[in-house]
Amino acid sequence: MRYVTLGRTDLTVSEFGFGCIPIIRFSKDDSVKVLRHAFERGITFFDTANAYRDSEEKIGIAFAGKRDSVVLASKTLKRGSEDAMGHLENSLRMLKTDHLDLYQLHQIAQEKDWREVTGPAGALEALMKAKATGKVRYIGVTSHNLQMALKMVRSGLFDTIQFPFNLIEDGAKEELLGATREMGMGFIGMKPFGGGVIDNAAVAFKFLRNHSNVVPIPGFETCEQVDEIISCYSEANVISGQDLEIMENYRRELGKKFCRRCEYCQPCPQGVMITPAMGYPIVASRMSPSVAVEFCRNAMESVLLCAECGACIERCPYELPITEILKANYALYEKHLKEKQA
Ligand code: SF4
Ligand code: SF4
Repeated sequence: MRYVTLGRTDLTVSEFGFGCIPIIRFSKDDSVKVLRHAFERGITFFDTANAYRDSEEKIGIAFAGKRDSVVLASKTLKRGSEDAMGHLENSLRMLKTDHLDLYQLHQIAQEKDWREVTGPAGALEALMKAKATGKVRYIGVTSHNLQMALKMVRSGLFDTIQFPFNLIEDGAKEELLGATREMGMGFIGMKPFGGGVIDNAAVAFKFLRNHSNVVPIPGFETCEQVDEIISCYSEANVISGQDLEIMENYRRELGKKFCRRCEYCQPCPQGVMITPAMGYPIVASRMSPSVAVEFCRNAMESVLLCAECGACIERCPYELPITEILKANYALYEKHLKEKQA
């Protein structure tokens, strides 16, 4: 395992980290086992969120007594100062620590989010105070929206950005990576498997390793998966013609089906929560159907409000057939709901 410095911070992290959504699905014992295995194999960077249910608590258990050997990152979806501080205190309690190495504003996509977090009594104010008192060492931000991400990087307010980066979602490749480098920021690559749709780990990581200043954070479910990715990193990165062909096939096959969660399609005049509803199958596969029906209930129920006006489809830069996908996702949600109630 190689270790790298995360942008201008003094945080040294393993060249890829552990994105801790998938451990939601497993018992405490199983989650702790895979977290500790990852650590024993050299992974030192663990990224979680207040929104990821008991993920923080499991990490806290796994690394009790080893706090100084791991770099812990979490995040809050709260937009106001008081609420964000409440989330941070909760993260500290769950993670059994008195400080977080990185605390991030989670999923800033729209101007409204940006105005709220940076305005008076906004979440950023709370994070700045937490940094001044040592509860947080560095402040980061996460987004799926390229324009917003660029704006946030150029604001100079953050130490890191977390953005989707994989062989299908490579829109960040030029401009965002370049801007992050210029600002000396760390780039944390979320969704290295496209949220689960890229099933060839070797090829997925050949693409990622070609971008040396990106620290990907795959989510692991088993110790074997940890070992598999570590073995990808143990050899020189040679991308063959066949690998390039496989990458192109993924792009061709998934390009017109895959929601990048960029939110350019919103707002919906009927109040449909398009982006979370588009991502329902991915959430269900990562969190389990029984958790996903609760987690996504509001978004999925809002699908019923769709009047099929087509406004979102016109705004989607990837020309996704949004209404068709929403209908299919709603059918899947209904199936999962029935299974849960049975
Ligand atoms: S449907 Fe299109 S515009 Fe909307 S979030 Fe997904 S990729 Fe972005
Ligand atoms: S097609 Fe449906 S989801 Fe899209 S903007 Fe119109 S009402 Fe909203």
